[in-house]
Amino acid sequence: MRHYDTIVIGGGIMGLSCALEEVQRGKKVALFDKGKIGKKASWAASGILMSLDARKYFSSFREFYVRSTQLYPRWLEEIIAGVPQAKNVYQPGAYHIFPTHTLKGQKEYQKLEAQLDREESSLYEKISEFPPSLNKHFPPGDHQGFYFPEDGFLDARTLLCQLEMTIKNRGVDVFPDTQVSAIDSFPGKVVLESKEKNFSTENLIIATGAWLNEILSLVNLKAPLIPVKGQLFRIPRFYSEEVMIHFQRDLHLVPNGNTLIVGATTEPRVWEEDFTEDGKSELQRNLEEIFPWLGKNILEGWAGIRPRPKDRLPWIGYLNEEKNISICSGHYKSGIGMAPLSALCLSQLINGEELSFDLEAFCPLRKKGIFALEKSFL
Ligand SMILES: Cc1cc2nc3c(=O)[nH]c(=O)nc-3n(C[C@H](O)[C@H](O)[C@H](O)COP(=O)(O)OP(=O)(O)OC[C@H]3O[C@@H](n4cnc5c(N)ncnc54)[C@H](O)[C@@H]3O)c2cc1C
Repeated sequence: MRHYDTIVIGGGIMGLSCALEEVQRGKKVALFDKGKIGKKASWAASGILMSLDARKYFSSFREFYVRSTQLYPRWLEEIIAGVPQAKNVYQPGAYHIFPTHTLKGQKEYQKLEAQLDREESSLYEKISEFPPSLNKHFPPGDHQGFYFPEDGFLDARTLLCQLEMTIKNRGVDVFPDTQVSAIDSFPGKVVLESKEKNFSTENLIIATGAWLNEILSLVNLKAPLIPVKGQLFRIPRFYSEEVMIHFQRDLHLVPNGNTLIVGATTEPRVWEEDFTEDGKSELQRNLEEIFPWLGKNILEGWAGIRPRPKDRLPWIGYLNEEKNISICSGHYKSGIGMAPLSALCLSQLINGEELSFDLEAFCPLRKKGIFALEKSFL
């Protein structure tokens, strides 16, 4: 039986980030994925590092999210060091534009303005002029908005490939197409069975995104998780500035090379991962409302499944009394932004280090959190 200090199940942004934290601490680490590495929700992401959702909460969630995105520039530097094509992977700055010549747009603008004032946030500027190549589409007087200098976006796919390469270079054994069929927890050790062979570890980390319950059922646990499908498409770039723009709730434009990523739909309880005609029409309608002159030149469309906990807080922490099985999952629409701090804190917890953030709000076994199917496991 092969032994590792830490085994991570799930090779999305969460699993890869956890593996990185563990290997950086000198651990012998393995990562298993039942499919290809990094090709599920994380691959589908637009790459926004601060979603509109996060701004709405006065909560641990929001604080955690903001602190995680602030770690990004340094975190990325470490991951992408020496990789020329990854140099421009992170871009700071985001606009949020409202058509204030309409009553609806005016109301939405005022709502966000009131919230930002209430929070005494210093991380924004009010604007009525936009970058030069956008100004012609948003005549001053008709539109107003905010600029958030600390928001940022990146190319999620480049990041994932780079993360995978980095952990492999640092010695993590990566096993794609590997399905774990049984998990047994003993004091001081967890044993995992797969078709080919068995493995043992001192620490098992579960990071299987929306498919969490497949693995949790092996340890008699269940997560109150709702899968939420999201669809996006890519169109040719029609403005030159490297800025991300949010419009109404379900429309954002994220520059990606010479294209713009247009997203995203929100489809609770849908498991199919295909890009559909309905999804395409919804995105096109949203886009045409703001840019009626834009053609229908869609270069690529895709979809992914976000893991949404019922209480919308991620699960980060231990799952059992032996403290040898933990979880890092349930980041819904914010997994890319939240990855650095989630993985850092989980590793700090496992290794008995001081936590960079109090994880109490994200305790997996909290009220309305993950629950036991058979009491004996806990
Ligand atoms: C359309 C869309 C747009 C998004 N945009 C953004 C954005 O702009 N910014 C942002 O921060 N977040 C965004 N998100 C959310 C973000 O993508 C997720 O929160 C994040 O990717 C979740 O990462 P994960 O590692 O938990 O899950 P995943 O990336 O889904 O990874 C889970 C992995 O576990 C593997 N797995 C599952 N079951 C098993 C098993 N039984 N055994 C072994 N392996 C298993 C899967 O194969 C997969 O590789 C978006 C999501 C979608 C769908």
